Amino acid sequence: MRAPTTQPSTLAPVPRPRPQPTRPAPARASTSDVLVVGAGLIGAAASWQALRAGLSVTCLDPTPGAGASFAAAGVLAPVTEATLGFESLTALRVASAALWPAFAADLVAAAQAAGSPERDVGFATHGTLAVGYDASDADQMDRLHAQHGLLGLHSEPISVSQAREREPSLAPHLSCALWVEGDHQVDPRAVHRALQTVLTTDPRSTLLRSGAATLLLGADGRAIGVVDAHGAVHHAGIIVLAAGTASGRLMAATGRARLPVQSITGQTLRLRPPCGVTLGHVVRGTVHRRPIYLVPRADGEIVVGATSEGATTAADLGTTRGMFALLHDARRLVPSIDEQAFVEVTSRGRPGTPDNLPLIGETGVPGLLAATGHSRNGIVLTPLTALALGVLFGDPPRGAAGLSQVLAHADPRRFAL
Ligand SMILES: Cc1cc2nc3c(=O)[nH]c(=O)nc-3n(C[C@H](O)[C@H](O)[C@H](O)COP(=O)(O)OP(=O)(O)OC[C@H]3O[C@@H](n4cnc5c(N)ncnc54)[C@H](O)[C@@H]3O)c2cc1C
Repeated sequence: MRAPTTQPSTLAPVPRPRPQPTRPAPARASTSDVLVVGAGLIGAAASWQALRAGLSVTCLDPTPGAGASFAAAGVLAPVTEATLGFESLTALRVASAALWPAFAADLVAAAQAAGSPERDVGFATHGTLAVGYDASDADQMDRLHAQHGLLGLHSEPISVSQAREREPSLAPHLSCALWVEGDHQVDPRAVHRALQTVLTTDPRSTLLRSGAATLLLGADGRAIGVVDAHGAVHHAGIIVLAAGTASGRLMAATGRARLPVQSITGQTLRLRPPCGVTLGHVVRGTVHRRPIYLVPRADGEIVVGATSEGATTAADLGTTRGMFALLHDARRLVPSIDEQAFVEVTSRGRPGTPDNLPLIGETGVPGLLAATGHSRNGIVLTPLTALALGVLFGDPPRGAAGLSQVLAHADPRRFAL
């Protein structure tokens, strides 16, 4: 088995995240109120939350935004992804999805105030069309709709012709359709760009392109800082471990607590139409019971996702079988994707946990918080994660009250040593 790596694995011509003016790591020590290890979407949002709480923050990452967050499609789907038996995860998704409108608006305002020319982060509330391909997919959709009733979530069965009125690119011979008004989307790369703009312009924040090598504990067992890959020591009162698939390894080295994070490889494809926008809604469904989604961006790009290939290492690319299935199934639901230009296949390791629930909050090591293990849900769970950290930073943001019960499911201490 190959060793886990923070280097992302990518096939085909892949645009990297737009370079941002991050500072090179200094050889000297730094001190801040909060130190965040990892600047994926979760670490960057955690850093912004520290700033919003009036704290200074240092964020370390050798390749900010190039991990799982770079692959993510950005579906915010508490309804269509709800499953009986996973009610805790559904509760987390529902709570966080409700925070997205304010999170997106506040972030866009902050990024614009920091000089960003971008007007939005691709947060779109056009709703989702869920469709099925064959009779077995229709059975599955009946069960999904019944589950929504049991879970108190709203979805509306519609005919395939009604679905095609809303989305003319849908194939004519689908077996079923469901309209889900409450499932939305955002563009994770745009969100990360906005966060990076804020973090690189606020004088209280430092974003360093360097990895954390070791977590430092004081004689009393409290986390006091990090030694980075250049040997520089960074001290802080609060440390947030948000290093995606590397989080478990960094924690294990302390010998004080356990974060069982494993990498689960996933792929998304990016397609672009020769002209115009082809889809107006997120389309998701099953083809011979295999799940698939197509997420249209405002500029016409369509993100097709996502494979999930079990616990692997972050270096794994995923199989061609997975990529073939994505294209095959997307074409069954939306035949016109045949006309799209192929832009990119992006493969990354999702930071997964044994119970599919994230690890957000106190770790059992004083001064050390976790914000990782979001698996397939890191984008939808970003606002809730930031809000939970805000409470622990000592400045509870608005909307935090009443969420402690939901967040109890994400307590990292459920995996004691
Ligand atoms: C194919 C695919 C599709 C997905 N689609 C969706 C979706 O539609 N909706 C959704 O909600 N979720 C989706 N997800 C899941 C989502 O992308 C992840 O849950 C989320 O991005 C996790 O964010 P993160 O910041 O924890 O991890 P990452 O984005 O992986 O960031 C971790 C960061 O830590 C850095 N790092 C690693 N080691 C160190 C170190 N030693 N020191 C400092 N930094 C370090 C890395 O460089 C990286 O930038 C998808 C994931 C994949 C792979």
